[in-house]
Order: sequence, then structure tokens, then C-alpha cells
Amino acid sequence: MPVEVKPRFVVLYGSQKGQAQSIAEGIAEEAEQHGLVADLSCLNETTKYNLEKENDPVVFIVSTTGDGEPPDNALQFVKRIKRKALSTDHYKHLCYALLALGDTNYANFCNCGKTIERRLQDLGAKQFYATGYADDGVGLEVVVDPWLEGLWNAIRGALSKMASDRTAHLKANTEDSAEETPDSSTPDVQISLLRITDHQNCESVGAAVETDSKFACAASSVASVVSDLRPASPAGSIGLASQCHGTASIPTSAPKTQAGDVGVPHVVLAASLTCSLPPLSESSLNVPALPPPYLDVSLQEADTIEQIVGPLNKETLHEVPVSKAVQLTRGDSVKTAILLELDISAYPMMTYQPGDSFDVFCPNRAAEVDNMLSRLGLQDQRNHLVNISLRKDTKKKGAQVPSYISQNISLLFLLTWCLEIRGIPKKAFLRALVEHTGDSVQRRRLQELCSKQGAADYNLYVRDPSLSILELLTAFPSCSPPLSLLIEHLPKLQPRPYSAASSCLTHSGKLHFAFNVVEFPACTGRPVGRRGLCTGWLFDLINPSPVFPGKAESSNSPALPKIHVSLRPNCSFRPPSDPSVPFMMVGPGTGVAPFIGFLQQRAEERQKNPEGVFGETWLFFGCRHRDRDYLFREELEGFVSSGTLSHLKVCFSRDDREDEESAAAQPRYVQHNLLLNSQHVTDILLRQNGYLYVCGDAKNMAKDVNETLLEMIKTELQVDQLEAMKRLAGLREEKRYLQDIWG
Ligand code: FAD
Repeated sequence: MPVEVKPRFVVLYGSQKGQAQSIAEGIAEEAEQHGLVADLSCLNETTKYNLEKENDPVVFIVSTTGDGEPPDNALQFVKRIKRKALSTDHYKHLCYALLALGDTNYANFCNCGKTIERRLQDLGAKQFYATGYADDGVGLEVVVDPWLEGLWNAIRGALSKMASDRTAHLKANTEDSAEETPDSSTPDVQISLLRITDHQNCESVGAAVETDSKFACAASSVASVVSDLRPASPAGSIGLASQCHGTASIPTSAPKTQAGDVGVPHVVLAASLTCSLPPLSESSLNVPALPPPYLDVSLQEADTIEQIVGPLNKETLHEVPVSKAVQLTRGDSVKTAILLELDISAYPMMTYQPGDSFDVFCPNRAAEVDNMLSRLGLQDQRNHLVNISLRKDTKKKGAQVPSYISQNISLLFLLTWCLEIRGIPKKAFLRALVEHTGDSVQRRRLQELCSKQGAADYNLYVRDPSLSILELLTAFPSCSPPLSLLIEHLPKLQPRPYSAASSCLTHSGKLHFAFNVVEFPACTGRPVGRRGLCTGWLFDLINPSPVFPGKAESSNSPALPKIHVSLRPNCSFRPPSDPSVPFMMVGPGTGVAPFIGFLQQRAEERQKNPEGVFGETWLFFGCRHRDRDYLFREELEGFVSSGTLSHLKVCFSRDDREDEESAAAQPRYVQHNLLLNSQHVTDILLRQNGYLYVCGDAKNMAKDVNETLLEMIKTELQVDQLEAMKRLAGLREEKRYLQDIWG
């Protein structure tokens, strides 16, 4: 019997946190439904693909990390394709589509995707489908979903164009084999079916794209749910005007406020995590295809299991004592900022430079791990060994046992150190949870939350409040997922980076850092507010006595708390190597942290070399109140007195603002102070080859500072917006405008 050969394409991904990988895997899994075969590889698996000889369409899914860097597993690939020796027709045979993931809160949005695309085009590759630029700042799915929907037609189009080009080429070869030219040896494909350039225009694009089988229409299951839910009473007209679990009867029509047919008043409820209102509650739903399970997980009683405390990758990690903890803010401040000093003297190789950051490895909260164990019904097996293997019959392409889960660990260790149990459940996870939910109303709501129609509710109730899986499971009590599902869907527990707030020249053998304790307020689905995972853990670690300055570890004093850290050098966010060059620092709130390190180092250098030429230094700092959260005030004023800091510009966003006149005259935020000093700032940047460093909040501050700089350049140089943007981009490229931002 002839074997049907399905058309093939290639999917390559570069992924830091697993999002690009999971999209790529989703594409590979869905290929079969479209009668296609996908070869899936990570960009660093160079033995699994060969672009130099690839004659089928290639789909790239790549994220961007840090300040526009490629993810670790795409670094070598990007380096390879950037080689100058490659000729302009190196990839002439290649047809590609690319989905770039990024976050507009950070500089160099989708930079890795853009770099790969630019190089592919420089090297002659042809695009068969417009590139999607998905923005995690507003929700990746806004661009990803319509992009995926249009992808299948584009692949089919590319495949048939490539096939017909090959046929034409073969024919031409047969007719005139003597006249073969290098140009005609490769298909010339230029198919562009869809234009998705940024998130602003994608909604209209999304609306125009026909839904395909990525979204298995849930109409049938919805229909059955609805029929389950129909009240037994006549005509189904009694009930609440929402799909709310725990209620006895749910209507299938729009809400009414007057009494119903049988005299029972309708109650119109507000929508919430667990309840929806029409039209969503009455809509047919397009839900993602069910992700195929791929892990077999079993628990085994074991007496010999090593009770590991702390993360596993011990070679790169150091366990260091917290030798000092100081609360930097007053008790009545809105945010609590803490300075911690780590004693790193036992690790002389841990030398750091100002501008470097380091990772803190924190465990999940014991109470949440306990809660999760009881939710899974596995409390008694907490010390059992976890055996994880691939399901033999899995349909998941490229399925692998997660590399960050080691052999020989207990269930308790897995939930404490390996899985981000605070992770925000993705839509695919919600879709998978539906299968493990008993109550039909809850099933329907989970379907809504992962559906195309329920995208706004997903953002409102899950994504924006950073709802964790545990909070979701609490809100949906009939949902009982197996442990394997959690391992399949929860991301790796990531360490949290912090900027060094000291110089090791000033604090030999010590490393300082400062952080705000992140607070998540209560919301629907979270009855009580909670702290950020790492900052909450650090806060608890040093409480109830947050201040123990200078306490040395000795045999008779209680042991200092210890944490696991590893250094993350940042080679560009460094003070200028030439001390005579002026530089400016913008760091409101805890964004000031690395600049304390910069200034400590500068003070040491000045002391060592009193005759040296030192350029001007400027610091723009901002906080709410002078008396409550002016971090490092004494130290900063000391730098000014000693001449280490030439200009300290501080603003208070909530002080002295009662009377309108004084409020208007006062700078409120750091960018206002920049504007007030526009002449100096532009002079240093544009004429004196100086540097500008920005550190702190990525969501608002860094963007506002960027906008302000554009305005200043426009005014100073009398140029238009585009020219000002080019000048600013030039400064970035020269690494004289540098950002270290987060949030
Ligand atoms: P999680 O439980 O992980 O929750 C984080 C979530 O809280 C985020 O998704 C965000 O939505 C929200 N959030 C609210 N406020 C903040 C905030 N201020 N920062 C981050 N997320 C916030 N933080 C510092 O306080 N000081 C530093 O010096 C510092 N340096 C950093 C350097 C780098 C290179 C990077 C990438 C980040 C840095 N951060 C710093 C942020 C830090 O790594 C953590 O993200 C932050 O402390 C929150 O961790 P968490 O586990 O407590 O919160």
C-alpha cells in the first residue's frame, strides 16, 4: 500500500522563559490536523536542522530577553547568521515566517526577532508570511492568536508555490539542461498573506482572519453544558443572569431586571473570575485545542531520598549569610524598601562591578506548597520520590522531561524549588484544566477564560491581577488536576535578579542590594492580598527584627539567615571607563540602587587619584515623600558634600502639592527634573560624549524618560520626531544611553 507523504515544514524556536517554545510546540502539534508534518527544534539543536539545505518552509518563533538580547538558546544561532563572511544569497533557497515575542515595557522591543529577520533578508531568504510582533506588555495573544490562525494557509501557500517552482525548474532543466544558471536553482517565493506589524493593528487583522482548527470550536461541549444547566422549571426562564458556579439555575438568555415568569426576581450579578455575563455567558466559544499530555508521573516511597534544602545547581551558586538588613523607608511609607548586605567573603571569586546584578534563588512559600499538596490530595506523599518519564503514546511533538527537574527529588522539593507555583496559568493550561473539572458551570467558565471570546475576561481576572494556579484552583473547587498536568504546564521557578547597590572597593567582601516588597492586592479570586514571592520571602527571612547592622557571625550569636545567589555580570551597564567623561544617572525609588555602587566606586577612585580629572556626575532621584521614602538620603548628600556627585536633583511626587501654584512650579517626577535641566542634559549627551543611565520601573518611568529625552533632542537640535528618534537610537547603539529596568 502506498504510504502518504505529508507535506513538511520546519519550526525553530529560541525561548528564554518557555513562551516561544510552547507556541512552537503548539504549532508542531497542530500540524497533523492540517495534514502537515512539522520538524521542531530549538535553535541551539544544530544537529537537528540544516538551514543551508532546507527546501521546505521554516517558521521561527523567537523571544527577546534583557535589553534586547537573544534568549540563551538562540545566542549561537544569531552569532552564526551575523557572520560577515556569509554571502547575500546564502539563504536564497529559504522561505520563512517569523513570530517575534517581546515586551514594549523594555528597550529594543522584539530585538532578537528583528535581528534574525534582518539577517535572513540580507542573506536572501524570502518571507512567506508577514512577521508578527507580539507584546507581552499588553498580552501576547493579541498578536499571537491571529498570527497562528493565518499561519496554516500561509504554509500551504508557500508549500504549493515552492512545489510549483521546483516543477517549473525541473521542466526548465529537462528542456535545457545545458543552460542552468545558479539563480534558477532555487524557488523564488514571495508570498505575503497577512500584515501584522504591531499590536495596534492586529485586532483588525485578527477579525479579518478566518478561524481555523487551532481553535477547536467548543460549541458542542458548550451546548451540552448549557443543556446541563437548564433549569427544570418551565421554559428555563428562572435564574441568575450569569454563568456563576454554585448557583442552581442559569439562564441561556440575556439578563432581565424585572420579575421572571414565575415571579422570582432576577438578580444581575457583576462578572468575576468565576461568573460571566451575557453576551459571553451565552456565546459559542472557540477554545484552544487540548494540549496533549506528555508526562507519566509516579510517586515512590523511598527511605533513602536525600533531603535537599535549597536549589540544585550548586556549582554556580553560593550560599551566603545576610549580614545586615535595614529598612530604608519609614513605617508610614506606601512601599517598604529594604537594604540587605550579603557576606560574600567566603567566595573571593564573587567579585562584582557596579552595574552588575545577581540572582537570588527563593523557594515557593511553605504554606502554598502545603496547600498545593492537599489540593492534589498528596499530602501524605510529600516525601515520596517523583519519577517522571515521557508518555510512550504522547502526540506532543518534541516532548521532553523538563530539564530543570532532576532525578531523585521528593515531591516536596519539586513543589518548593522547581515549579513556579505562582505562575499565571496560560490559556492552554486552563484548557487542559477543563478536562479535570467536575462541575459543569465551572467547566464552562474555564472554557470561557481560555476562549477567543473570553480574552478580555482572561486579561481582567487572570493576567492583570497575576492570579496564581493555586488561587485559580481555590476559586474552582471541582477542578482536580493530576500532578503530571502541573509539571507539564507550570514554568520553571526562576531566580530573581537584583542590582548590586555597593562597590566592593568600599565594602570589601560584601554585596548590598535594595528592593521594594512587592504587594499584590486582594481581588476577585484572591480574598487576601499577598507579597511578591522573592521579596515576601526575603522580608520574612529578616523579620521580626529587620535591623541587625554589622552583626558578625560568631559561635554564640544566633545563625544569620542564608540565601543562595549567583552573579549575573552586566558588561554594558557600567560607569564610563574614562573618568573624565561626564555621566548622568536617572534612578527613582529602588532604581537608585546601582548608582550607589557607581558613586561608591567613584569616591574610591577620587580618593586614590586626587589629581585625576573627573567628569561631572548627575543623579536624578524621585520618590513620594522627602521624609518617608527618600532612599539613601544621607549617603547621597554625603556624595554631594565630598564632590563625588556634582548634581543631585530630587523630586517628591506627593509632597507640597496641596496648593496648586507651588505644585505647578515643582518637578514631580524625574523626567520633569530632566526637562528643567534640558540644556545640561543635551549638552552632556550630544556634545560632550557623555553617558545617561536609567534604572528602575520599566512600565512608566523608563518610557516617560525616553519621551522626555526625545522632546529635549527635538528642541535642542531643532529636528523632527523621526530625526530625534534616530539620534536617541544612535546613543543606544554607542552604549551611551543605557537602561537597566524591571517591573
Ligand atoms: P513576583 O512574585 O515575581 O511578582 C512579580 C510581579 O509583580 C511582576 O510580574 C509585576 O507584575 C509585579 N511587580 C510589581 N512591582 C514590581 C517591581 N518593583 N519589580 C518587579 N515586579 C513588580 N527589583 C528591586 O526591587 N531592586 C533591584 O535592584 C532590582 N534589580 C533588578 C535587576 C534586573 C536585571 C531585573 C531583571 C530585575 C530587577 N529587579 C529589582 C526586579 C526583581 O528581580 C523582582 O522582579 C522583584 O523584586 C519582584 O520579585 P518577587 O518575586 O517579589 O515578585
